[in-house]
Amino acid sequence: MKLIAYSKALYSTWFYYAPDRILFDCGEGVSSYLENKVYAIQRVFLSHGHADHISGLMGLINIRNNAMGDREKDLTVYFPAGNHFISELIVYFSRTNRKLRYNLEWVPIQPGDRIPLLEAKRHGRYLEAFATVHSPNEISLGYNIVERRRRLKPEYRDLPQKEIAALVRAGKKDEITEEYDQRIFTYGGDSVPLKPVFIRDTEVLCHEATFLDDADRKEYKHSTVWEAIEVAREAGVRKELILFHLSSRYRRDLPKVEEEIAALDLPFRVTFVPPGEIFTWG
Ligand SMILES: [Zn+2]
Ligand SMILES: [Zn+2]
Repeated sequence: MKLIAYSKALYSTWFYYAPDRILFDCGEGVSSYLENKVYAIQRVFLSHGHADHISGLMGLINIRNNAMGDREKDLTVYFPAGNHFISELIVYFSRTNRKLRYNLEWVPIQPGDRIPLLEAKRHGRYLEAFATVHSPNEISLGYNIVERRRRLKPEYRDLPQKEIAALVRAGKKDEITEEYDQRIFTYGGDSVPLKPVFIRDTEVLCHEATFLDDADRKEYKHSTVWEAIEVAREAGVRKELILFHLSSRYRRDLPKVEEEIAALDLPFRVTFVPPGEIFTWG
């Protein structure tokens, strides 16, 4: 299972991305659901400081200290630099958790920052932060997981397999191939429609979709389902669009909306994180 997530607008949102042991946002209920898996989490990336995205931190930090598990494992929490709510929370934790058994680190990050995830030469991976637009006076971020890959240079792509194999045997692999960076997973947090340029060609896009109907949106802070689909189309999402943060008022409309989306015949799959339910994927 690659992803375990929960998301209900205003209540709680968290996404556990297992391949890189990353928790994106930390809404309430995350540790009581994940139980032993909380020890697997190595990094938490917070998108912004609203309560429905950070209210699980107290539980997570505490349970990793107290429960019967490997209590020595470090935890790093990355957050948008200068975020007021999160800065207040860090002060609280530093005063109330003086004797943690593991190393807890808080790291402020900015749009464009890159954090290495896996340093292996062949399959280097890193996370890149990008700017999102959510609420005024509060910095918010989205995150891409990027994998460094190798492919044939364009001039060699039409060569028969045999000839390519011969070139590789002749030690010309580096000459005929090039490295490129492929975005493989994107988590956008809460935001108005994401800028396609920041998430171009990603394989899997998690985009918030709080509203179905634009008329229900009183302030311009969140996206609609249809805007998220348009972003995914413009960005050239390769495989799947996962829609989350849906308001629970639309729960009953979901089957009908899914039918409407199917009729659009999109080049990627569209899946909803149903509000109020644990969602697993991959
Ligand atoms: Zn939210
Ligand atoms: Zn929010």
